[in-house]
Amino acid sequence: MKFVVECFGCRSNQAEVQEWIIELEKRGYQLTTRAAEAAFGIINTCSVTEKAERDALRAIQRAYRHTAARWIVAGCTVNRARATLEAKYRDYFFFDNRQKRRLVEAVCELFPADDRLVYHSAFRSRVFLKVQDGCNFRCSYCIVPSLRGKAQSLPRKDVLAKVRHYAGLGYREFVLTGINLSSYGYDLFPRETLLDLVVEVQHLRGVEIVRLSSLDPRFIRYHFVRELAAMPKVADSFHFSFQSGSDAVIRRMNRGIRSAEYLKILSHFREYYPEANLGADLIVGFPGESEKEFRETVAFLQEASLNYLHVFPFSPRPGTRAAALEPLPAPLVRARAAELKELGLQMKLAYRDRCRGRTFPGILIEENPHYALVVTRNFLSVRVPPVRGYKKRKLHVRVERVLNENLCEGKIA
Ligand code: SF4
Repeated sequence: MKFVVECFGCRSNQAEVQEWIIELEKRGYQLTTRAAEAAFGIINTCSVTEKAERDALRAIQRAYRHTAARWIVAGCTVNRARATLEAKYRDYFFFDNRQKRRLVEAVCELFPADDRLVYHSAFRSRVFLKVQDGCNFRCSYCIVPSLRGKAQSLPRKDVLAKVRHYAGLGYREFVLTGINLSSYGYDLFPRETLLDLVVEVQHLRGVEIVRLSSLDPRFIRYHFVRELAAMPKVADSFHFSFQSGSDAVIRRMNRGIRSAEYLKILSHFREYYPEANLGADLIVGFPGESEKEFRETVAFLQEASLNYLHVFPFSPRPGTRAAALEPLPAPLVRARAAELKELGLQMKLAYRDRCRGRTFPGILIEENPHYALVVTRNFLSVRVPPVRGYKKRKLHVRVERVLNENLCEGKIA
């Protein structure tokens, strides 16, 4: 029985979807990209920004109009608008963030597989593992805590069991994700930390690379960086949720940190990881962001040792404190977002240019008759000639050309 999947939003959502696909395929279901041939579909929704929610709602509407498949809608948009969705799409199945933990079992009950064909669509090498959900902070723009609840960590033994399981299936890179990954373990008893988890994950057989998704600067201390650097399997690409470089804006965002702290954190990383690929999330056009405050962010970025940016134009989320504030004019927000995106593009190209002629360890993630694709430990995508029959996934690649900001070309070293 075939199914399709659409996923919106953050790495946690991607991790959930990847896990559902793997588990459903193990149970004999077959992933397809063609909705027309699917018996059912799953849409994992996101409401973190207005745009993400709009895209998810469009996908639900499109699915309703254009396919005969039965649809399962899961995630944050269900938490936010369940009654409206249920009234509009009466024969859909809805799973909020709490219910989606048993989505795979529910699928098996709703759509019993009629064959036992085991089919694996994924090129098994990288897997996203969601190890944490929810958040205890209250950043003034963020709807996530009200949709996903308080911070909850997957107990370490459960994470390790998953890693062993996926390593046994052939996966070699493990991307640890969470809504607030840095808070991993604080809710467990006895209390644990992300470092405790990473130490154990990297020792498991089959694990070649452990990558951390977005890190919250409020949790990062010098010893965290020093101890990470002592673990050779931890990927040297790190992403930080900075959101702004202006102290006044960070304060109005209710983030409880200052930009000087960000610079200090970056200097710790540069001390131990001089060549790492470092990036940050930024929200631009937060209500009340003056020209002077925006320039403070630009000046911060010019001083910060970053290699890429993820730029999000501010969008008000219902029920958050920032939604009650007077928004900036949309053209101004767009212009500021474009300026930061251009800055981020230059950072990306400059970093890739510096990587030319150098060799990096990486993981083979895709192969077709024409080329193979490698993701390096410092998170470059490098296209190389096909390496047919190569079974180990792990290899070294030499970067030879920068094709664009997202793709390099190279050869197996
Ligand atoms: S840390 Fe702030 S932005 Fe991140 S999920 Fe928690 S409340 Fe939202």
